Amino acid sequence: LEAIRTLADIPAAQARRRGGAVAVKFGARETSFAELDARSNRVAHALLASGVAPGDRISVLTKNHDGWYPLFFGTARARACLAPVNCRLAAGEIAFILGDAAPKLLFVGEDFFDLALAAVADLDSPPRLIALYGGHSAFESLDAWLGDAPATPPADVPWLGDDVLQLYTSGTTGRPKGVVLANKNYRRFLEMATEVDGFAYGEDETVMIVMPLFHVAGTNVSFSGLAQGGRLVLVKDFAAPDAIRMMNEERVAHAFLAPAMIQMMLQQPEAAGGDYSQLRSIAYGASPIAEDVLRRARTTFGCDFVQFYGMTESSGGGSYLSPAAHDLPGKLTSCGQPWPGTEMAILDGEGRAMGDGEIGEIAIRGDIVMKQYWNRPEATGETVVDGWLHTGDVGYRDADGFYFVHDRIKDMIVSGGENVYPAEVESAIMGCPGVADVAVIGIPDERWGEAVKALIVPAAGATPDPGEVIAWARERIAAYKAPKSVDFIDALPRNPSGKVLRRELRAPYWEGRDRAVG
Ligand code: ATP
Ligand code: MG
Repeated sequence: LEAIRTLADIPAAQARRRGGAVAVKFGARETSFAELDARSNRVAHALLASGVAPGDRISVLTKNHDGWYPLFFGTARARACLAPVNCRLAAGEIAFILGDAAPKLLFVGEDFFDLALAAVADLDSPPRLIALYGGHSAFESLDAWLGDAPATPPADVPWLGDDVLQLYTSGTTGRPKGVVLANKNYRRFLEMATEVDGFAYGEDETVMIVMPLFHVAGTNVSFSGLAQGGRLVLVKDFAAPDAIRMMNEERVAHAFLAPAMIQMMLQQPEAAGGDYSQLRSIAYGASPIAEDVLRRARTTFGCDFVQFYGMTESSGGGSYLSPAAHDLPGKLTSCGQPWPGTEMAILDGEGRAMGDGEIGEIAIRGDIVMKQYWNRPEATGETVVDGWLHTGDVGYRDADGFYFVHDRIKDMIVSGGENVYPAEVESAIMGCPGVADVAVIGIPDERWGEAVKALIVPAAGATPDPGEVIAWARERIAAYKAPKSVDFIDALPRNPSGKVLRRELRAPYWEGRDRAVG
């Protein structure tokens, strides 16, 4: 890690040590560290030849593909900043992000050519369009664009202060915001990652990447894997049966999974019979996990589990619940303790630090905190105050220094003057027989202000009884937290990082009315 000052150094540092080792496997294709290094340098030269200057934005619109990695490292090497676009968005939403980032070039995968053309149609200064793979008459091919770019590094060396990635937030609570992360944020992230169980990988160990590469979890697990000489197995699209098969066939040692992915894998009959002897750790995070799901996952997979709590604005870092801490009394539902070199605090409405056990807003401080939101100075000023990143999440710290995240402030339900956190109610309902998935929201109520409603996806062939679901919840959580009503739904709307879009679920119940909190 000493040889890695910026993200751009990752392929070169590994290529010098063990250039022939496999860095990335995608489908049947394997790329060695030496090839990745050469390819990244060629991308950097081609960017410079295209007139890209330090600080310019470059975007990419595609599913996971091994062509992402030379883009990450080549853009960093050219001192430009990669602003990936969530490929699950609609054309108008993509146009919004492209208008915000104003990239000089846009790399597009073959499934997204038409969407990209629709998204750039009304932009004032549309980017130059390059096909990352596949071909289309309106796009230059990657090979033609690379031309005879040399495989040696460009002369100009990246700075720690360079913007290196502009990752858009998941857009769970509203429009995605462009989070500007500099090399120094990532350097800190990588330093810390090697000290944290579940991110500290052995050389040559296989790391499965299923999180989207436009999300901070996908980039971070990739970067920490490659920086430590791991072999990445990259998955184009998550599907539970494929993920289970791949764990066995590729001898996966480490994976980062969103709780929704773990839940879907456990629902596969073949999950129980898998051979997980080579599996060392499963990291999870990005949204709350139901206690029942976590307990079953630990039994099924039998490996170390490590939870990460963080966000795009903190380079994905924050707190972690170590494998050992999962067995401490009362800590299984905690999101753990701050990363080495990172501070956390619970703040009241005025930004003052609160004591142990008091409920307030979780805040994070340290070198992992973003530089700014792109084009949003006001939002930046409100979010980062005196170096403290206000996370928008509610929680508390216990007397042992463990943090517990309740939920997002915007999703908190105020019912009869009491605060109800949907994640806690969901966790309580999740183990109820006949329930495959659940989301909890507040709906308008004359008497209570808001009333707790559970939206339930029944398990295959099951027809759970609303009264029994409510009774199940009442046995496990306080009566005021239990749902007052239950509706059934075929599937929950989730974004690519596995987060339930509660604002979409709330919308039909709130038509024409404003919610006080959200
Ligand atoms: P937006 O900010 O656009 O609404 P987002 O907050 O979902 O989207 P991300 O940066 O991907 O975008 O997600 C960070 C959020 O995810 C955190 O603020 C927190 O609410 C949630 N989260 C992350 N890790 C955990 C965890 N371990 N447990 C519970 N919630 C988590
Ligand atoms: Mg957020």
